[in-house]
Order: sequence, then C-alpha cells, then structure tokens
Amino acid sequence: MQRLPTSTDAVHGGETGRNAHHAVAPPIVQSATFAFENTAELKRFMAGEMSDADRTEYARAANPTVRAVERRVAALDRAEEALLFSSGMAAITTSVLALVRSGDHVVLFRDAYRKTRMFVAKTLARFGIEHTLVDPGDLDALTAALRPRTRLVITECPTNPYLRCIDLTKLATICRAAKAKTLVDATFATPMNASPLACGIDLVAHSATKYLAGHNDVLGGTVAGSTSLISLVRELRAEMGPVADPHQAALIGRGMKTLGLRVARQNDTALTVARALEGHAEVTRVYYPLLESHPDHAVAKAMLRGGGGVVSFVVRGGREAAARVVDRFKMAAIAASLGGTETLVEPHALLSYADLDEEGLSAAGIAPGLVRLSVGVEETADVVNDVLQALAG
Ligand code: PLP
Repeated sequence: MQRLPTSTDAVHGGETGRNAHHAVAPPIVQSATFAFENTAELKRFMAGEMSDADRTEYARAANPTVRAVERRVAALDRAEEALLFSSGMAAITTSVLALVRSGDHVVLFRDAYRKTRMFVAKTLARFGIEHTLVDPGDLDALTAALRPRTRLVITECPTNPYLRCIDLTKLATICRAAKAKTLVDATFATPMNASPLACGIDLVAHSATKYLAGHNDVLGGTVAGSTSLISLVRELRAEMGPVADPHQAALIGRGMKTLGLRVARQNDTALTVARALEGHAEVTRVYYPLLESHPDHAVAKAMLRGGGGVVSFVVRGGREAAARVVDRFKMAAIAASLGGTETLVEPHALLSYADLDEEGLSAAGIAPGLVRLSVGVEETADVVNDVLQALAG
C-alpha cells in the first residue's frame, strides 16, 4: 500500500534542496520575467536542456515560489505533478476545459459546489458540451448516464453541502472501462483525509482557499495527477493565465505547513459538534460522514481517514428559524467559505442560494433551514458551546 501523506509532507514535501540565500522560509520570488545570460543559455532552455527543472522564462508559465508549493501539493496528493491556480474555480474550470471538446458529454454528481454546477450546466453548454446530473453516490445512475462521448466524470468527496461520499475505487473502475476521465474535487477531504489518486482517480482538485491555505486570508486552487494529464492543464493555464502570484503562493505554502495539525483538530471538533447536534430538539437533520445516521456512512468510513471540519444541519422551522439561530452565534462569523482557522457559519438559503425561492431551493435540493458550520481550530468545547447556545436561543 502507498504511504499515506503526513504532517512532514505538509512541511517538507517536494523540497529539492536548500532555499536560496540559506532562507529557511521559502523565498518570495517577486519577478514577472526571468533573464538569460546569453542566447546560448536561452537556446538550451528552449531545447529543454537546462539542469534546473524550475528554470522559467515568464511567470505566467512558472514561478519558483509557485513551483515549490506545487511540488508540496504533489507530495501530499501522491501525484506525479500538481499545479497551483489563482482560485479553486480557476483550477476546476481550467482542468475541465483542458479535457473536453465540443460534442463531448460530462457527468456531474448533483450535490456539488454551486459554481461548479453552473459552469458545467451553463458555460460548458455554450460550447456544445452536454451534461447529465446524477444523484450523489449512485453508481448505477452513473453507469446509466455514461455515453460513448462521455469524456469526464466530476464529483466532490465529500460533497458540498451534504457531505455525500462515493466509493472512488468503484467510480474509477467504471469510468476507466468507459474511457472517461475522472476529476474529484477533494476540497472537503483535504489530502490528509482522502487520497483519490490512490483509488485510481485521474485528477484531484482542491480549493486551496479552504484547508490548504487554511487561514481565511487568501484564494487559491490546485489540481494534481499524472504528468501527461497535468501537462495538458498546464498548457491551457499558460494560455488563459489563471496563475497564482508569488505572494499568494507564499501564503498558501505557509498555511499548508500546519495542514496536518489543523485538520486533526478540525476532524475532532466537527465530530464532537455533529454528535452534540444529533437528537437536538431544534435540529431536524445532521449531516456528517462519520455519523452512523449519514446516508454514506459505510463508504465514508472506507474512503476517509477523518470526517473533515464541516457539519451541515437543518434547523427546525425553515429559513427564518435558521436565520435566528445563525444570528445568535457569538464566536463563529457569518460568512461563506470553510476550512480556515476561524469557525464560520453559513445559512445556505440566505447566502450561497439567496436568489432562490422555496421552489428553487427544493429543485436545488437545499433545505430552507440548512446551516453549514465550518469549524476552525479554536478549543473544541468553545465551538460546541457556541453552537448549543445559538440553538438554545
Ligand atoms: N470546490 C468546493 C467544494 C468549494 O466549496 C469551493 C468554494 O467554496 C470551490 C470549489 C471554489 O473554490 P474558490 O472559492 O477557491 O474558487
């Protein structure tokens, strides 16, 4: 079995030697372009004959600060190669566009980050790419949805916001037989809790804005996989330009050093919160993959090394009741996003799905009283107490 990613990988993964200037912290190489000694060196670079694999000529193609983070992501995701982007959506959209062409078909699991769903349903459709939505975790429905022109199957694991999980090994086997590529957005799992590539998945993406950077202070996105697939994505990234800048990369790289520590705390706190919410009089439903009541509990236990830091729950009484509960949180901030050091609480029907009425929410599968809690790294007892006092009202 492959070695699992560790905290040591989060700190040192992908290092190629000492940093420039003997710096312990990776230097921020703030340069848009890179010079050559003479045309002979330029020719050697263009012919791919330079010994320094990180040598670059222009920061839209590569930058040493960005490369260092990419190598660390590759080490954590157990991938041959990884790329860093300006946001999670930049990573996902560029990866998808690198793989599909007009006339192709894409399958997406229904419970997914809304912008990913919109990109597949609206933007890809404008370029003649059809799609089918499949219920989360339903491998039979996936098999039925596959067509000769199905080029790509996209899923999150766990999904946003219901934390649905799918057997990634079975998913990879089904898709490989159909000659479709697989892309798993593992933002909610992080490399510490799941290793989709080890299950045979082709590409794994993360919104680095969340756990990888981990401090609610920077955007970023990653994708990792085989050298051949990542080369396609890299080429398109250089054409479209959604690259991370060196300061952004340095913040992400710094955040990643504590990934293992943070995720361990967040796994513990979220499970404790989920257990405290289960059976609570003001809560009609709790979604957390490691609760026995979760629809995908068995799969989650097999796929995940921890349940992650997000707990979704439905407040009795719907949208307004959920708003009243959210307003009573004292420590948690009312904000979109997840995976950072601060606990965040999001009333889904008032934030990510604010434009939808009850009918629209129902069509999108979003319960009006749904609250998504992303636990931070505060003391577990303080997070639990904040949730319970907000529900006590
Ligand atoms: N994927 C998932 C599962 C997300 O939750 C998000 C954002 O919330 C994204 C992708 C998009 O990431 P970003 O906001 O970094 O573009």
